[in-house]
Amino acid sequence: MLNCDLDMSKPFDIEVERLTGGASYLTVAGGVDAGQRGTFFLETFGCQMNDHDSEKVAGLLHARGYQQVETPEAASLILYNTCSIREKAAQKVFSRLGEYREKQSEGKVIGVLGCVAQQEGEEIFKRAPWVSLVCGSASYSKLPGMLAQLEAGNARVTGLDTDTDETFETEVTRRNNPWRAYLTIIEGCDKACSYCVVPFTRGPERSRASDSILREVRQLAELGYSEVQLLGQTVNSYADPTARKMRFSELLLAVAEVRGIRRVRFTTSHPSDFTPDIVEAIEREPKICDHVHLPVQSGSTRVLRAMQRTYSREEYLEKIALMRGANKPIGITTDIIVGFPGETEAEFEETLSLLEEVQYDSMFSFKYSPRPNTPSLSMSDSISEEEKSRRLAILQEKQREIQAAKNARLVGEQFEVLVSGKSRRENQWSGYTTAHRMINFASQESALLGTYVQVRVTGAGPNSLVGEHAV
Ligand code: SAM
Ligand code: SF4
Repeated sequence: MLNCDLDMSKPFDIEVERLTGGASYLTVAGGVDAGQRGTFFLETFGCQMNDHDSEKVAGLLHARGYQQVETPEAASLILYNTCSIREKAAQKVFSRLGEYREKQSEGKVIGVLGCVAQQEGEEIFKRAPWVSLVCGSASYSKLPGMLAQLEAGNARVTGLDTDTDETFETEVTRRNNPWRAYLTIIEGCDKACSYCVVPFTRGPERSRASDSILREVRQLAELGYSEVQLLGQTVNSYADPTARKMRFSELLLAVAEVRGIRRVRFTTSHPSDFTPDIVEAIEREPKICDHVHLPVQSGSTRVLRAMQRTYSREEYLEKIALMRGANKPIGITTDIIVGFPGETEAEFEETLSLLEEVQYDSMFSFKYSPRPNTPSLSMSDSISEEEKSRRLAILQEKQREIQAAKNARLVGEQFEVLVSGKSRRENQWSGYTTAHRMINFASQESALLGTYVQVRVTGAGPNSLVGEHAV
């Protein structure tokens, strides 16, 4: 078995076009018929960071001469970029791999990327011997060397290091959205939440150099992107490795200054590193979106301690107060886990009362799922599945009521919307406000995609708004 680090001195040697570039055609070795060579199918599970990693992997493959296709049947190389944040997500990957068992005998090369690859490592070859490539999220910078090994006919290639201090930067990124560009500014995570696999699957925190980020933002603006979304598991823990030592809030302002950029988003923020200067930047610069995703996970300080979240309920609420005290409304969204080991009914009710107090604009909620390698695995998963489901349903119902009431109060207001969707129904469009509220609206105009328009809200549901184009 070969490990990718053997070939890492190999430079990235294909001439590439920048960012959205096309690529010349190259063949892949390995018993695939000529018409099928050099095509890849890439399926992504999981979060925005995975989506963006896939955009970079696709760019890298294009630069090597591969062409992306829409079905596994049409591909010579089938790649799964995977998520292992909860057990269900990881199981889904193995059942999908099972479906492609026969594909290998047709000469197709199958690869597993991302968090499941990192977590399961070479076990994947045992459970699914038809897989040829296993590359964890922290080893993506080594993918060109790994691809070269596959092209040379190696049947088993792995990249599983997590001790890398590199970030995953590519010459070419194949972005899927023509208006909004994702941009990872910090990879990995140095927090140690007791339930979470990310520090194991994505490795330690590495921040990308501010000058490199700003260079890419300028290129994106030149290519016509008007919204950038800065990504990181704890995006606001950004620590510029250059002598400039830009703070996260300074970086937000610098990105907003780039000509052509109209919206700057960022996700996910960690409460412990959420400082007043970030709110000041949002207040000062209209291009920085009025939205903060600030996962709380639980409303109980005892549970937060057990989760090793590094803040108490009161400290979290201080961060919320910072935003509520801003000179404009800021949309606040969150993540919550119910049924963490030992969570009592009273502690769950503290989460409900937190929802009441904060009045979130939206929430992602999950039943606790025990994960390999995590400290909470040794705590007894004492809460039954039925009880977790009951708590989740109560939580979601409460949040639904809060959202319905909040959204109803927006009827009659007007917002700027970046139009990102067109319905099959005539004259119906959709897009997002700066606070990341989804709005479906009517307009007689014919070419609105990618433009910014004013929309008046005429109706509201718990999850979205309805409106009409205000001309
Ligand atoms: N870095 C972000 C943060 O600190 O909030 C979140 C990253 S994680 C990809 C997204 C969400 O998944 C978390 O906020 C948490 O609510 C949820 N999550 C993570 N591990 C989980 C687990 N073992 N069981 C259930 N939900 C989990
Ligand atoms: Fe996981 Fe916590 Fe890091 Fe978020 S901050 S990625 S929840 S360890």
